[in-house]
Amino acid sequence: MEEAKGIYVRENAAGRLSAADRAACAEYAADYASYLGVAKTERRAYAEAVRRIEAQGFRPLEACATLKPGDKVYRGYHGKTLMAAVIGQEPLLAGLRVIGGHTDAPRIDLKPVPLCEKGGLAYFDTHYYGGIKKFHWLVHPLALYGVVVKPDGSKVEIAIGDKPEDPVFQITDILPHFGAEQSGKKLSEAFDPEDMDVLIGSAPDPEADKETKEAVKRNILRILGETYGITEEDFLSAELELVPAGMPRDLGLDRSMIVGYGHDDRVCAYAGLRALMDLRGAPRHTAMVLLCDKEEIGSVGATGMDSTFFENSVAELLARRPAEGIPADLAVRRTLEASRMLSADVCAASDPHFPNADSTGNMAKLNAGGCLIKYTGSRGKSGASDARAEFIADLRRVFAQDGVVWQAGELGRCEKGGGGTIALFMARYGMDVVDFGVPLLNMHAPWETASKHDCYMTYRAYRAFLGE
Ligand code: MN
Ligand code: MN
Repeated sequence: MEEAKGIYVRENAAGRLSAADRAACAEYAADYASYLGVAKTERRAYAEAVRRIEAQGFRPLEACATLKPGDKVYRGYHGKTLMAAVIGQEPLLAGLRVIGGHTDAPRIDLKPVPLCEKGGLAYFDTHYYGGIKKFHWLVHPLALYGVVVKPDGSKVEIAIGDKPEDPVFQITDILPHFGAEQSGKKLSEAFDPEDMDVLIGSAPDPEADKETKEAVKRNILRILGETYGITEEDFLSAELELVPAGMPRDLGLDRSMIVGYGHDDRVCAYAGLRALMDLRGAPRHTAMVLLCDKEEIGSVGATGMDSTFFENSVAELLARRPAEGIPADLAVRRTLEASRMLSADVCAASDPHFPNADSTGNMAKLNAGGCLIKYTGSRGKSGASDARAEFIADLRRVFAQDGVVWQAGELGRCEKGGGGTIALFMARYGMDVVDFGVPLLNMHAPWETASKHDCYMTYRAYRAFLGE
């Protein structure tokens, strides 16, 4: 079989991998699935990333007084947003090579005062996070992850629903027999988010009598107290997220795909981390991976890309590897301007069942490799960071030298599709940025689908870019 080499394709290339690449792709996909199964929230994605990079010799940046080429460091914000870097041979002023992704994913959060009883059943009241189709989240078994922090600063970690012996939770739906009113409504109006309470119990407190009010809720509080040492008030300082229960699985008789929760964007986050960890020695330019939180709600907040985390991290690097004769503030600005970045985020793969969503000849195809998206945005490219042709030409050369299989696409039909990533927040510094990531089927569904070939080729693209 002819080896894929250099290669912009717009066709199914999964059968063209060399024997060595096929084995590497299978190993890569298995390790990615093991990461994805652990990284079910942004906090867990962060902790698992730190565990993996520390095992590869990355050290906290604050523990390093100076930096030299080949040093491996990381820095975090609030246990959610991560910067990891391998120091390059060139001064930092020559610019960084950055892979920037995000580790938050659409989910169902608990409200600050979540516990309630209705009709003799106990529920958590919820508030969804990110862009979801609400009906996707009904009926399926859900797991609960997160933290409860006590006023004394102690933290209780919650992880219920993914061990075989664990209970799970469910947002219930009406049966079809009674569903005529629901099915007559527009999809956008049929599901009131205020009705998306998650069922957590039905048994009254054994010590309750006829006079006891909300005996089922009381029973849940008793269990929470006995098992986790938390009270109803402790939910005020908690971050608890409902996510699909279950682990990533091979999809298809040919096992060519992975179905999992949170491919968007942990599939690119993992690819960036692996690319960084697999660099050998000091790259020419300092190689950096940024994994942000809050992308799904606009990259806002202290742990989002729109915070100062990235530029502060660059300042921290420069403080340890200074640019001689240049004021520190100017050095930060020059380093940022000279940097280049792949905004590592997923895109929509063409689905033959929904041809009306496709941008003719410009939709990513499954198994045609990592996908470069020159611009996102909506309507007349509103909100896009449209990458310049010169940068993409350079990437074509880098990918071709390394045998990366890739494709170009856009986010759906003009005026029908659209979307955003963290690209525009980085482009603000004047650096070259373009989106590059894994095409997905049913993006933002509780279970998203990616091809192993495309996951692997996205990693190969990131590795070529960082090591260029
Ligand atoms: Mn994304
Ligand atoms: Mn998304």
